[in-house]
Amino acid sequence: MTLLADTGSTLLYLGIALIALYVALLLVALAYNVVRDARRRSDSILFAIFAFLLAFIPPFLGALIYLVIRPPRTLDEERAATLEQQILAEPATGAPETRPCPTCGRDIEEEFVICPYCRTQFARRCAVCERRLRLGWPVCPYCAAEVGAHALPPAHPRSAVPH
Ligand SMILES: [Zn+2]
Ligand SMILES: [Zn+2]
Repeated sequence: MTLLADTGSTLLYLGIALIALYVALLLVALAYNVVRDARRRSDSILFAIFAFLLAFIPPFLGALIYLVIRPPRTLDEERAATLEQQILAEPATGAPETRPCPTCGRDIEEEFVICPYCRTQFARRCAVCERRLRLGWPVCPYCAAEVGAHALPPAHPRSAVPH
């Protein structure tokens, strides 16, 4: 009987030790992830240390607190957001080049291939390199792609070009 009891208690201690080891590993992994997350969200070393200490508040409460107080955006996201704002602010500073529409005379941007106001088409885009082509060109002069003859819009009835 004593042998059985010994085995039992040994197993019990072993079990407790394993659980303690498991919890310890879990805490270390948690702290590692919390610190890594903190480094991604802040340049401050102090914040990283604070997050590290917070991660060890039992039982996993610190990690939850960290999730609440951490900066909402990572530094990468912050950088992307700043860049996005700069790009959005761009058109205000440098207005796109415009020219008058040959049909209705309204200002249209240089890159347009069709007038958005009167629907006059005066150019098209190469399907391959996406550069502006004149309507009469059967081949793209930039990438040599065959773009085919273009049927001119009915608004401009010109004598049909024989092919
Ligand atoms: Zn127009
Ligand atoms: Zn092309």
